[in-house]
Amino acid sequence: MIGTLLCCSKMAEISAPPPPPPNGLILRLCTSRPRMWANGTIIRVGFLSGSVAMREKVIQYASEWFEHANLHLVLVNIHEADVRIAFTPGQGHWSLVGTDCHNERGHQQPTMNLHLNDWTPGRVFKRTVLHEFGHVLGFLHEHQSPVMGIKWNRPAVLAYYRKIGWKDTDVEENVFKQYDHDMSQSSRFDRLSIMLYAIPSDFTNDGFSVGWNDKLSAMDKDFAAKAYPKQPRVFFPC
Ligand SMILES: [Zn+2]
Repeated sequence: MIGTLLCCSKMAEISAPPPPPPNGLILRLCTSRPRMWANGTIIRVGFLSGSVAMREKVIQYASEWFEHANLHLVLVNIHEADVRIAFTPGQGHWSLVGTDCHNERGHQQPTMNLHLNDWTPGRVFKRTVLHEFGHVLGFLHEHQSPVMGIKWNRPAVLAYYRKIGWKDTDVEENVFKQYDHDMSQSSRFDRLSIMLYAIPSDFTNDGFSVGWNDKLSAMDKDFAAKAYPKQPRVFFPC
């Protein structure tokens, strides 16, 4: 696999409502600038597996991002696809970020895997597709912002992820690692962002927690619109 692999959404549901973040905590939504698409790009999506119903749900949910970003999603034959989606059980949810999909040249090699099926609850199906397509647009994990201040209880986090089959290196890459300022641009933190993992309070040393986010937040939509503006910027001479 070439490029940045992001493993997502393997954590159990959190039922308790999350408390507000600690005062003064500043977090940011990130994008990977080198992997962003040219504004107005048509992103071609194909499927390697999955039922017709599953494919239709992916397109339906993913399309929500494209209502706000000046990018276009089209469904194509797998041999023509930029984004190749598989539904391989046991492989988790992951996606290459932005244009990294072009580095994966094998036409039968997925650039995204969704561990979903026809029986997956609609809420889980939707949030997973939205999160992974956020990566397709070049967006990164909110909890890994370079200005992120989560005080991780590392032993508790590592113990949890080991139980569900993650290697410690996966946890470092997808949970603990903070992005460099040079590789990301960001806006203000949005605890409702679809790009944020759920964080139970016992994962942190100060009680900070976040529940599952199931839909695009207002800031997600605004961020997509600013990253890929639909209206050309007009500059008037002085
Ligand atoms: Zn992710």
